[in-house]
Amino acid sequence: MIRYSEIPHKQAREIVLLKGGPCVWGRCAFCDYIQDNDPDPAACARLNREVLAQVTGKYGALEVINSASVFELPRETLCDIRRVAREKGINRLFFECYWSYRDRLDEIRSFFGLPVVFKCGIETFDGDFRNRVLKKGIVFQSPDEVARYFDSVCLLVGVKGQTREMIDRDIEILQSRFRYGCINLFQNNATPIRRDEALVQWFCEKYQYLQDDPRIDVLLENTDFGVGGKQDAR
Ligand code: SF4
Repeated sequence: MIRYSEIPHKQAREIVLLKGGPCVWGRCAFCDYIQDNDPDPAACARLNREVLAQVTGKYGALEVINSASVFELPRETLCDIRRVAREKGINRLFFECYWSYRDRLDEIRSFFGLPVVFKCGIETFDGDFRNRVLKKGIVFQSPDEVARYFDSVCLLVGVKGQTREMIDRDIEILQSRFRYGCINLFQNNATPIRRDEALVQWFCEKYQYLQDDPRIDVLLENTDFGVGGKQDAR
């Protein structure tokens, strides 16, 4: 699997896809990438060290994803990330984090001593769709509550059962309340959740301008960040 890449546009950064322990939630109906989780911290740390060795620091920013939350990375890997950040002059980090860790984000900030952008997979601000269909297990009173903790949210677009109105509202909330965002167009995977092609088509036409918004990443494919795909056979 490709685990290192660069995102040269928008918030320019290097990105690594590391391995960590099982996602603390692990029950989202659309998620099959937790198959990359590994309960063996020593094995994860070994692999992660090899991946981190590719980081050059060329953008001064590094995003770390691990098909779970930063809190599920082995301690050894957190130390390696901190060492690499110091050695390579990285001054900004991006991590993924599930909602249930929202009161612990300062632990990560103080461990690294750097500005950190935390990305939370909210998927949609429609509570019924988020929890009944997508099974996110995330309950909050208002988008402002989410924004109090997270600088960035990930939204999922193009799932059967989702409506245009839901998506319009999600995009409006993202743009008005969050510094950054990431929109993932759903692709069929090993789960029973299905993609709505007509909805994806509609979104791509209506929201094409988001491709030029420096604050928002739009991933047409899961692998658009350059990681997660298969290495070419050589
Ligand atoms: S919180 Fe994220 S990694 Fe965990 S099951 Fe849900 S989508 Fe997958």
